[in-house]
Amino acid sequence: MTAGRVHGLFVGGELVEAASGELRELSEPATGAPLARCALAGEADVDRAVAAARGALDGRWGKTPPPERSRLLHALADAIEAERDALAELETRNTGKPISSTGGEVAGAAEVLRYYASGIASIQGRATPFGSSLLHYSLKEPVGVCAQIVPWNYPILMAGWRLAPALAAGCAVVLKPDPQTPLTALRVAELAAAAGFPAGAVNVLPADGPTTGAYLVSHPGVDKVAFTGSTRTGAEVMRLAAAGIKRLTLELGGKSPNVVFADAPLPEVIPASAWAVYASAGQSCECRSRLLVERSVYDEVVAGVAAAAGRIRAGDPLDPETQLGSLSSRAHRDRVHGFVAAGVEEGAEVVCGGGIPDGPGAFYPATVLASVDNAMTVAQEEIFGPVVSAIPFEDEDDAVRIANDVRYGLFATVWTGDPGRGHRLAQRIRAGQVGVNTPFTARPGIPFGGYKQSGFGRELALETLEAYLETKSVLVGIGARTPNPFGL
Ligand code: NAD
Repeated sequence: MTAGRVHGLFVGGELVEAASGELRELSEPATGAPLARCALAGEADVDRAVAAARGALDGRWGKTPPPERSRLLHALADAIEAERDALAELETRNTGKPISSTGGEVAGAAEVLRYYASGIASIQGRATPFGSSLLHYSLKEPVGVCAQIVPWNYPILMAGWRLAPALAAGCAVVLKPDPQTPLTALRVAELAAAAGFPAGAVNVLPADGPTTGAYLVSHPGVDKVAFTGSTRTGAEVMRLAAAGIKRLTLELGGKSPNVVFADAPLPEVIPASAWAVYASAGQSCECRSRLLVERSVYDEVVAGVAAAAGRIRAGDPLDPETQLGSLSSRAHRDRVHGFVAAGVEEGAEVVCGGGIPDGPGAFYPATVLASVDNAMTVAQEEIFGPVVSAIPFEDEDDAVRIANDVRYGLFATVWTGDPGRGHRLAQRIRAGQVGVNTPFTARPGIPFGGYKQSGFGRELALETLEAYLETKSVLVGIGARTPNPFGL
């Protein structure tokens, strides 16, 4: 399936070469070894994929009724589950993430497809009688061609999150993965075709963002844009989409707090707090990268998380025992390390980690920074690596103030032995999700998305379907006589 193979674009139900013939060399982040070559889409390929998507809507896919769409989504989920191990290995080789995580991410992609396969049943219009002369009813129709742009940190999971609601709603998709991590999304498209999705319903174009991605967003044949990525790029995508009044949802960055009160059960909280930041090596939008700790237990919690960081099994991501793999690239690792160096420059103290290890790959150790003030760069900017900034707070009001004092609002976790306080903080923290006494985040059925500059729109919920549907009102005259409003 992988090493040495040349991967095409997926357009109109088949793998094709890029019109330019351009290929991108992919290597394994954990070793630097060559992995594969993949076609790189350009503007002509976008034109072709958008036309294929439109053709699907005008043809067989547009006429596929909801129960059949549901069956197809389940069939794709079956195919993904049947290939779980191979897909997980492909994802691990392409991203450097541990196979212990990518297996779950492959399963998560199948799970979200099944969730929306069932959720199709909720797509319903309504009828409203207006006396004896007028009947109104509404129809739910697919928005049309959706451009879906996803990042490199969870390639197959993000593909699943995007494809499932769009296809459930009856839209056709042009998915643009990051050009460095396109392999599992391309395989999912192949599996979709084999499962019976009509040609053009699912198209996948690995492509560079600022050029081809921007062209896709601006394309007049695209009706809706769903973007997942950084806040900076999200602002640019919003600007481009505005010109065509495109429907838009944005899932952007985060700088999420993990708030620990002194009355919380610290022996459980400390390992869970380490997981909340170091899972996926911190390359997660919902990474709890700010550790806010009540001052009376600050030293104990910081030392505990540093000790837990030291126990994390780091290394070869293909080893099933590994918990912390490689970062996505050496360039990204340098960026992460740059943040740590800037933190030290501003007065933070490195409690553990914080150095680039010798050897191949893009590894970076689990790092704890203490003595951090919330105004520092490391507390304000998304580092997207295994780095937590520990910040003390005095009381509940102070915790809320610091938790909210960032431009992001994606996630927050609160640990406390006082249930009332947990609920109070859930109300006062401005974030799309707040976990109380649990580190866990996204799963189908729980609306996921951001406040503030973390974006807008919600994933993983039935309400997500609305973002892929238009409501059409039909008005029917049912009076006995034909109305003559002008009296002509
Ligand atoms: P990025 O913004 O650099 O890129 C994201 C995607 O956008 C890539 O496919 C890229 O090729 C494309 N792109 C770049 N410029 C573009 C342009 N001008 N027009 C159209 N497309 C363009 O982000 P990244 O570094 O790849 O991903 C990490 C970011 O994603 C983090 O900020 C993370 O928090 C965020 N993220 C958010 C969620 C969420 O659900 N909120 C989930 C995963 C990741």
